Amino acid sequence: MQFEPVIGLEVHAQLSTEAKMFCSCPNQYGAEPNQNTCPVCLGLPGALPTINQKAVQFAIQLGLATNCKIRLDSQFARKNYFYPDLPKAYQISQFDRPICEGGWIEIETKAGTKRIGITRIHMEEDAGKLVHEGQDPNASYVDLNRAGVPLVEIVSEPDIRNSEEAKAYMEKIHSYVTYLGVCNGDMEKGNLRCDANVSIRPRGQAQFGTRTETKNINSFRNVAAAIEFEIARQTDAVLDGETIIQETRLWDGALNQSRSLRVKEDSHDYRYFPCPDLPVVKIEQEEVDRTHASLPELPDQKRDRFVLEHGLSHYDASVLVASQEVAFYFEQCLKAGASPKPATNWILGDMLRLLNETKTEATQCKVGPKSLAQMIALIEDGTISGKIAKTVYQEMFETGKYPAQVVEEKGLKQVSDEVALLVICQKIVADSPEQTAAYQGGKDRLFGYFVGQAMQATKGKANPGVINKIFKELLGEPSQG
Ligand code: ADP
Ligand code: MG
Ligand code: ZN
Repeated sequence: MQFEPVIGLEVHAQLSTEAKMFCSCPNQYGAEPNQNTCPVCLGLPGALPTINQKAVQFAIQLGLATNCKIRLDSQFARKNYFYPDLPKAYQISQFDRPICEGGWIEIETKAGTKRIGITRIHMEEDAGKLVHEGQDPNASYVDLNRAGVPLVEIVSEPDIRNSEEAKAYMEKIHSYVTYLGVCNGDMEKGNLRCDANVSIRPRGQAQFGTRTETKNINSFRNVAAAIEFEIARQTDAVLDGETIIQETRLWDGALNQSRSLRVKEDSHDYRYFPCPDLPVVKIEQEEVDRTHASLPELPDQKRDRFVLEHGLSHYDASVLVASQEVAFYFEQCLKAGASPKPATNWILGDMLRLLNETKTEATQCKVGPKSLAQMIALIEDGTISGKIAKTVYQEMFETGKYPAQVVEEKGLKQVSDEVALLVICQKIVADSPEQTAAYQGGKDRLFGYFVGQAMQATKGKANPGVINKIFKELLGEPSQG
């Protein structure tokens, strides 16, 4: 491709505080419309906001975890615009004095690890919601439960170069906010959402092109899809001789496309000014240091520890730590006696696949870490074969039964009894004179045929090692040449 995309993401994360940002209304999803409101978040005249300390602490934690500098005197500002879901006609946000600045996180790409700069993280309040599916089909309804819910906006540098990197960045942000417990990360409910700024430029050109901003992206898949759509649209436009205009676009996940919403505002359109109702957010450096020292183990640190302590590959470890629950599950498995490699393989293979297919969280998995460790032990001591174990696992996943019980009930014990297997193998050789002659004449690939027959005869339960040994003896070495 002759053009290079340039991408910067603005990620909004709803903070999981109990109360809203500037009042004591509950920060709670799914309540009756307008139940969680008060004069402050309804924007009634004369009502005064107060700052939620917990939200400030969460913002500091996230800033430190993402290598930002923490501003000790950050300030809230009014961002003025009119919209029916914004009763004050301004949003309290931060402008030129955000709480965090100048950080970075690392993402994994095909070419290796890449650092993505974080320009700033600022605090703000969410807006309400317009509801268009009410009693009267011609009316729009206003629900202000979400008005005043605390948000952080994480603004990246334009360091991202393709949709895959953007998705990896979003996934990394997701794992950081959930590890820290500052946001629950539920993208379907809009708790974590992103706007994608995309431009293209001729390869080799230093100057950036004009960007568009696509809003309303609410899944990892849509981050990639929206960006790919926009790169293709801009490329077509430029090749057709058109000029890209700076605009805001709205992503429609159902149609897999975006449409122009409005010509993009610049910051001066918002007439920002310091919010006169709120004091400067004074923070002690001591508090910042204390917070830094008490951060939990973060995904990248956990990944490096898994590589070092358990000998996992960098890739396997990255996938395991992407979710804190999955990483915890893995460590519980090891505590229950499983070795790291088989535990990793089962978790990254059958477990994540089935969780995905059934849309289940790791914490809800019916196969507990102990059960998985027990099943791995059954494979290792030869009670079941690795192949039969897949059937056993599936049954455990569906029913929550213990592995030994499944093996017993379904009669899945591996047959390792040499005498019993010898009888079966002898019959196969006797029934297959042509294959036997061909094998002994040099067609050594036919060995698999005999093993397959024995597996079929025992419904997959024969111990493959024993079967191999018996056939080698019965058939002898194939002649050379
Ligand atoms: P605004 O509030 O106007 O959207 P911000 O400064 O909050 O502006 O965010 C700008 C975002 O756009 C950042 O993530 C930045 O990296 C990104 N960005 C800036 N210029 C470009 C560009 N030419 N192409 C792509 N992304 C860009
Ligand atoms: Mg923006
Ligand atoms: Zn309120």
